[in-house]
Amino acid sequence: MMETSSKEPSQPHQILIVNEDACREVIGRHEAFQAVEAVFASMARGGAYNFPVVREAIGHADALYGFKSGFDREALVLGVKSGGYWPGNAARGLTNHQSTVVLFDPDTGRLKALVGGNYLTAVRTAASSAVSIAHLARKDAKVLGMVGAGYQSTFQLKAALEQRAFEKVVAWNAHPEHLTRLAAICEEKGIPFEGVSRQELGAQSDVIITITSAFEPLLDADWIKPGTHLACMGTDTKGKQEVDHKLLAQATVFTDEIAQSISIGEAQHAVAAQILSEDQITPIGEVINGTNPGRQSEADITLFDGTGVGLQDLAVASEAARLAETGGLAQRVTL
Ligand code: NAD
Repeated sequence: MMETSSKEPSQPHQILIVNEDACREVIGRHEAFQAVEAVFASMARGGAYNFPVVREAIGHADALYGFKSGFDREALVLGVKSGGYWPGNAARGLTNHQSTVVLFDPDTGRLKALVGGNYLTAVRTAASSAVSIAHLARKDAKVLGMVGAGYQSTFQLKAALEQRAFEKVVAWNAHPEHLTRLAAICEEKGIPFEGVSRQELGAQSDVIITITSAFEPLLDADWIKPGTHLACMGTDTKGKQEVDHKLLAQATVFTDEIAQSISIGEAQHAVAAQILSEDQITPIGEVINGTNPGRQSEADITLFDGTGVGLQDLAVASEAARLAETGGLAQRVTL
């Protein structure tokens, strides 16, 4: 009888470590857009799927910790983003949101790379709304409305400005003094900027991005004019909400992933109120792939419910690892 050893022969292998600086160096808005658009398309073809998300209060440091994992069988990207929210970090000079992406070799299950996830999360979230604007907003959109002026908002604004020939940015934030960070970007790009009320923002905007941590609607359905495209990016947890749920019954609704949209996304409230059903929500990947027409008329209100999926993180992290390796910016460690 053949003896089987319980001990694997030691086979040292090299992994890559790609730190936050290297990620910033190699992943710009263009690279993030390409990676996110491609993985949304792959999801819609059934070539990539997200595994159930885990998110738990750990009972220490008021932290929320979790992991988002998935596999893109087309691009052969397997891994997990792990991290969460540590509210006490700012007082220590650290970012409250912390995450790291771990990539595995899908052929062997061996560790491939550790990639810093903080910058990549912001740039992939901005890429997600940018992809929605590219595919769903009216081509003649002129005014961009920003609701929220937190950490993510500057990434959102920069990525959105590249999608249409915007001539003006209007913005609202609960703390108006924080609007200066958005105004500075507009000044740099030579685009007029105005802080406005939420109702005025609805009246002026052709494209609206919401990126707040609100738990109540900030925009009434009646304030949104025909033809507007909204990218609702802040709602990624049960109970959060940024727009009037009635708006989702009036709009044509798109999302990154339907399962998340109806449970933790902006659509959760309209679905609970039974004014929107799951089959009325379209994965944006179908629009990218050309199997759904997307915007049907100039008067349509389109709404993208960007909940944030693990595959986005894996897509940008995999690209970061590839580019950092070829550019000599990744550290190699032998395990
Ligand atoms: P941040 O803490 O830096 O900023 C929070 C923003 O929300 C600020 O503009 C603040 O004024 C506003 N806000 C908070 N409570 C509010 C309320 N009750 N009413 C109105 N405005 C309120 O956070 P951030 O890093 O900019 O992230 C913003 C949101 O985006 C968070 O809720 C985060 O969970 C979410 N997020 C989503 C994704 C995704 O993929 N969809 C990815 C990253 C972050």
